[in-house]
Amino acid sequence: MTFSPDSLRFFTFIGALLGACSLLLLTRHHILSRFHRRYTCRFEIFWDRKLRPYCPRCRNRLSEWGMHQSFKFELRDGRMQRIPVTFGAFRCVPCETLVRLVDEDGFEVDLDFALERLRTGGTPAVP
Ligand SMILES: [Zn+2]
Repeated sequence: MTFSPDSLRFFTFIGALLGACSLLLLTRHHILSRFHRRYTCRFEIFWDRKLRPYCPRCRNRLSEWGMHQSFKFELRDGRMQRIPVTFGAFRCVPCETLVRLVDEDGFEVDLDFALERLRTGGTPAVP
């Protein structure tokens, strides 16, 4: 089978290809818009109406919240030093990442703070 630009077969092939691409885009758009109607994006993750968390990458349900260990580098006495830090995050099992909650000002928040803000729509009192 050869494709020359003049042949009817070539244009049929291109037409089918364009049709398949647009169908794929329409399906993707439909799925995405349905997702955004059901879920809201707050604290850089997705939440459903029952305030259950979903991964921002793969959109799977996030597992339980937990405390995790990591390191940060800080300049001390003119040298960069590795300092252990503890942070709260969800674990996404399908994409094997830790997902932190970050507010609109770029500050990391814990789960209770985020849930309280989602329920009330306001800012809870900082203890
Ligand atoms: Zn994920």
